[in-house]
This record gives sequence, C-alpha cells and structure tokens, in this order.
Amino acid sequence: MSKPQTLEFDVLIVGGGVSGLSCAITLLSAKEHYEFVREKRIGVVDEGNSDLLKAYLKNVPGIKEQEGEELLKSLREQLKRFGGCPLIKDKVVKVEERFKVFTEGGKVLSSEYLVLATGFHRFEINIRGVEVLENPNSPRPGKVMLKNENFKVKDKLFVCGTLSGAPSMVSIASGTGVWVALQILREWSGKSLVIHDVKGSV
Ligand SMILES: Cc1cc2nc3c(=O)[nH]c(=O)nc-3n(C[C@H](O)[C@H](O)[C@H](O)COP(=O)(O)OP(=O)(O)OC[C@H]3O[C@@H](n4cnc5c(N)ncnc54)[C@H](O)[C@@H]3O)c2cc1C
Repeated sequence: MSKPQTLEFDVLIVGGGVSGLSCAITLLSAKEHYEFVREKRIGVVDEGNSDLLKAYLKNVPGIKEQEGEELLKSLREQLKRFGGCPLIKDKVVKVEERFKVFTEGGKVLSSEYLVLATGFHRFEINIRGVEVLENPNSPRPGKVMLKNENFKVKDKLFVCGTLSGAPSMVSIASGTGVWVALQILREWSGKSLVIHDVKGSV
C-alpha cells in the first residue's frame, strides 16, 4: 500500500470555528501587505462542529442578529475570498513533534507552526508538552483549556479561542485568533505589525 502524501504548511490551524478562522483570515490578509507572508502556506483542518452551529446571535458587536451558522458561513466565505487556504474537513487525532499532524481520515500534514483552536469541550489530541487545565472562564464545570502564556503553549505552538481560556463569547474568541496571527507575524518579521486597509486605497 502507498504511503499517504504529506501536505506541508507554514501555519496549520486545528479547528475551523470562530477563533481558528479568525486567525487564518488575519494571516491571509497580511499577504496583501507584507512580502514575507506572500509565500506562506496557511491551512485549516476542522471537524465541523463549531459552537456557532448551536448559537443564535444578538449581541456580537457590529454583526446583525443571525443564527451562528450564518456567521460561520460568512467566515468560511471570507476565508475563500482571500484564497489559497485549504479548509480540510477531518479530525486531528495525533501530533508529533515539529509538527507532524495525523488525522482520523488518514491524512498526514506537516507544519512549522501549529495553532490549536478546538474549543473548550474536551481536548483529545495526542500531543506531548501540553497541559490540560480546567477552564476557569467557562460558565459550566468540566470545560478545558491549555496552559499558555499569552496564547503561546511552547515554541511555535499556539492556542486560541475558548481552548486558550477565553470566555465563550464570539468577539473574544475571534480576537484571540487575530492576536495569535499577529504573534506569528511578529515572530516572522521580528517586529510588531498590524494589518490595516486604508479608505480609498482598496
Ligand atoms: C448554545 C450557544 C449559544 C451561544 N450564544 C452566543 C451568543 O449569543 N453570543 C456570543 O458572543 N457567543 C455565543 N456563544 C459562544 C460562541 O459560539 C463561542 O464562544 C465560539 O464559537 C468559540 O469559538 P472557538 O473557536 O473557541 O470554538 P468553536 O467555534 O466551537 O470551534 C472549534 C472547532 O474546532 C473543531 N475541532 C475540535 N476538535 C477537533 C479536532 N481534533 N480536529 C479538528 N477539528 C476539531 C470543532 O469541530 C469546531 O469546529 C454560544 C455558544 C453556544 C454553544
């Protein structure tokens, strides 16, 4: 039997809910602004079970009242508009060091950076060097987070969304994904960056 082909990324985001897609969209938007990002390969692998699918949203600042599913669709469309970022439907089951990612469907993905954005319900990925803690910001007991400092778990491994310990609110989860993207951009460039489009220039 032939060995599965390894897909290679510079940043692989595990979890395509609010925070994971926010992280990916920010990195993709940076490609239009910074030469050093242009060739970077960004990917998302997602099991397809975001909490947004259960939510009805009235209080997300600036977003019209809608089902969470509609927002998820908008985020996926925004990802697609930027382009060049596969959204792989699969479940990650194991990660080996620096970083080789194995999925339930038999895919093997490799990436320089890994971002874990799998939500706070459970953490079942077999990966060394992460510490799973009780999530103190969850409204219900039994939810988890990964020990992190400023969203960094260890070298080139980040966490965002509710799995980072953020309270379960869309804007906060989204913001943590953006924050992780900016941290990765800072590691690549050696300086703090923001990605701003200016009125009249797009
Ligand atoms: C019923 C309900 C109502 C809500 N109402 C509101 C509201 O009114 N206002 C508000 O601001 N917030 C609301 N929220 C909260 C909001 O939906 C969450 O805060 C937000 O979705 C968290 O984003 P996240 O990226 O951390 O996780 P999620 O959006 O849940 O995304 C995690 C993703 O990771 C995937 N995943 C998990 N494990 C793996 C794996 N091993 N491999 C690959 N993929 C994996 C999951 O399938 C999922 O797609 C509500 C939530 C619920 C449940």
